[in-house]
Amino acid sequence: HEAELKKMIDLPTEMTDGHTMLLKANIQTSIEVDAAKKSGASGVGLFRSEFLFMESVELPSEQRQFEAYKQVLEAVSPKPVTIRTIDIGGDKIVKGLGIDEKNPVLGWRAVRFCLSRKDIFIVQLRALLRASVYGKLQIMFPMISGIEELNAVLHLLAHVKEDCRNEQIPFDPDIKIGTMIEVPSAALCADILAKKVDFFSIGTNDLIQYTIAVDRGNEKIAYLYQPFHPGVLRLIQMIVEKAHQNNIPVSLCGEMASDPLCSVLLAGIGLDELSMGSQSLLQVRKILRSVSFEEARALAQQALEMDSYLTINTFIREWMHDRF
Ligand code: PEP
Ligand code: MG
Repeated sequence: HEAELKKMIDLPTEMTDGHTMLLKANIQTSIEVDAAKKSGASGVGLFRSEFLFMESVELPSEQRQFEAYKQVLEAVSPKPVTIRTIDIGGDKIVKGLGIDEKNPVLGWRAVRFCLSRKDIFIVQLRALLRASVYGKLQIMFPMISGIEELNAVLHLLAHVKEDCRNEQIPFDPDIKIGTMIEVPSAALCADILAKKVDFFSIGTNDLIQYTIAVDRGNEKIAYLYQPFHPGVLRLIQMIVEKAHQNNIPVSLCGEMASDPLCSVLLAGIGLDELSMGSQSLLQVRKILRSVSFEEARALAQQALEMDSYLTINTFIREWMHDRF
């Protein structure tokens, strides 16, 4: 079984009728880069940079960050690496920053934190720009909820670029900029946001949490946390449709991307890219290489017409069982 999967390391994720998708790896630290490369990933689709900030009580300096980003970019080059700016707060606690809230998931986290602690954010953006000449960097922003926030981070990035130019610090002028879509308001405004960025990446871990109003870490209500909830699937479909109307690609980097049950459905909805823990990648590639895009589209269309996650779950399970 394992030997069979290994054969797929160098193969493209090409469906039987020629439609291709990109499968990339999620990493938290540079230690995971090796596994990502060995998994046959087409790059890193999500580097959760906040883990650099969770290592010690001291904030990582610009130099420390630069070295960490450079290391990953060089290791993965010429394939691209999408580094997400820090998503601290919520379920990712960094001590010593004064984030102590009753409702942290709806609170001061990710870009909300970064936009009020620009001192910290600017250091990260400078480190990213400096590292960008060592590989193919893409930058994306977490927890964007609307156009004002996106404009604010883009504005700040433009400033930091200007500073670098003035200081003659070289950086890649063509870094692709994306936003995560993981807040329902951002999903509903996907057509507006798509005009401002080069790509979307759907964070279903949070999108499910916020859409169904179910804490992603609370076991008592875990039964409500359903990727196949029609509300979630409709949002994903809408995001993809609006992105494609605006000619930008869409990735999905939540846990859903690594679930073999979800892969054909997500392909059928039209996702261009899935990013997941590297241990799941070849399994997902194997599944996608054995079905056609037309079949996947038909499956997604049928699922999207159903009215409950129970029905959709059974439908997908049975379809997969018959096929595999
Ligand atoms: C997500 O929300 O789906 C995501 C990829 O980000 P994180 O799990 O780090 O919040
Ligand atoms: Mg998230």
